[in-house]
Amino acid sequence: MSMGVEQVPTGIEQEQQDPWLHVGVVITVLVDPSNSNTRLEVSQISAQHEYARLVFTGGNVDELSRFPSNAGGPAGNAKIVIEPANINDDSSTVVRYVDTASNQMLNGLTGCIDAAETVLGADAIVPNVVNIYYGQLVNGLLGEAVVTGNVMCVTSGAVGAPWRRGYGNELYNGGATFVHELGHVFGLLHTFDNLPTQCSSPLISDLPGQFTPNLSAALDYNTATKKWQLVNDNRQYDCEGVIIPDFGAPPYSCVSALGLDCGGEYTHEAGWSYMDYTADMTMIAFSSVQCSVMRASMLANEMLFVTIGGGPGDNTASLTTENSKPAWAIAVVVISAVALLTAVIVLVVLLRKK
Ligand SMILES: [Zn+2]
Repeated sequence: MSMGVEQVPTGIEQEQQDPWLHVGVVITVLVDPSNSNTRLEVSQISAQHEYARLVFTGGNVDELSRFPSNAGGPAGNAKIVIEPANINDDSSTVVRYVDTASNQMLNGLTGCIDAAETVLGADAIVPNVVNIYYGQLVNGLLGEAVVTGNVMCVTSGAVGAPWRRGYGNELYNGGATFVHELGHVFGLLHTFDNLPTQCSSPLISDLPGQFTPNLSAALDYNTATKKWQLVNDNRQYDCEGVIIPDFGAPPYSCVSALGLDCGGEYTHEAGWSYMDYTADMTMIAFSSVQCSVMRASMLANEMLFVTIGGGPGDNTASLTTENSKPAWAIAVVVISAVALLTAVIVLVVLLRKK
C-alpha cells in the first residue's frame, strides 16, 4: 500500500485539466421589413457562430499564430463550447426571425429586447441560455451586452457588410463584435475601463494597464526579431508624442503614470484582446487571465445553464436527457457544486462605432 502524494499541477497541466464548459445560445434576428439586408441568412449567422466557437475553444489557430510578443498575455483557451454545435442542424438550430416596424432603429440592447417582446412576449428572453439579438442599432452602435448577464445585441451591419471602425478603416464585420459581446456576457469588462487603479494594478493581471480604447492598433511582423508585435497603440502614441484626434490631449496611456522606459517591456497595450476596440483583424485572443475570469463568471452566473461536456468536436452532448432544459443547453453533467450566489453585475457596456 502506497501513500498518495498530491501533485500540484503546473499551469499548463491545470489548463489541460479544466473541464470544457458548455452553454446554449438562442439567436433572434430582428428584421426591418423595409431593409432586406437585415434579414440575415442562417449561413451568415452560422459563420459568426462558428468563428466564436473557434475563438472560445482555442481553435482560431491562424489568428493565434500572430499573437504579439510585446503586449501582455499569454493568450488563453477559454474552453467554452457554444451550443448548438451545428447551427444548420434542425435538431439544434434556434434562430428566430421577428419583424420590427419599418425603418425602426433600435436603441441598443433595450431596443432589441423591446422589439423582440412586441412579437414574442415573455418568450423574447429564453431562460438558461445566451440570448443573442441581431438588429439595426442607432448611432453607429456595434453591440451592447449585460456583463455577467444572458442578453446581447449585435448590429446587423456587423455581419457581412462593409462597416468600418478605427482610424485605419479596417473592416469590422469579421465576427469580433459577436465575440466581444459574448465576452461581456461571460463577465469581462473592457481592457480600458477606467478604474482609478488601472495603471498601478490593472483590472486583468496579465494585461498592461490601459484607460483609453485602442482604435488603430495593429499586428506587425518584425522581420528582424521574427516575432509578431503590437504597434500603434496608446502607449506607443504617448512615447512618440502622437495626438489622437478623438481623445483630446495626451496622455492616453499609463506610460507617464508608471514612468515607463519607452523602449522597454510593456511599452504596448493589449490591443489584440477581444475586449479592446481595435479592428476585427487585430482582435485575436483572450488572455489567460481573461479566460479564467470568464469561466469563473459563467459558473457563478445563475442566468446561464452551464454544463460540463466534451470538447469542441463532441456534438453528442445534446443527445443526453434532461427534459427540463432546452435540448441545446444539455451536456453531460450539471455542475451542481457551484452554488455561488454571486451578485450579478448589471453593468451595461456599450461598444460604439468611431
Ligand atoms: Zn464592449
